[in-house]
Amino acid sequence: MFIVFRCGCGRHLYAPKDAKTRTCPCGKRTVLRKARILAEADDAIIAGEIVRRLQLGGQEMTGFRTARLP
Ligand SMILES: [Zn+2]
Repeated sequence: MFIVFRCGCGRHLYAPKDAKTRTCPCGKRTVLRKARILAEADDAIIAGEIVRRLQLGGQEMTGFRTARLP
């Protein structure tokens, strides 16, 4: 499983669900446990696609499993 989240700089990123941290190209390291999960994906290809859509500003997540909001 991969998770999709947003860095403090506004970039959307994905990482393996069991990873602890993910460093954004902006240099900020996000602790995944504290990140707000936007979506989950079964593999990196789907996660990358979700990230691309989020970057484009599309909020429609049709066809993807969205994360449960707290
Ligand atoms: Zn960033």
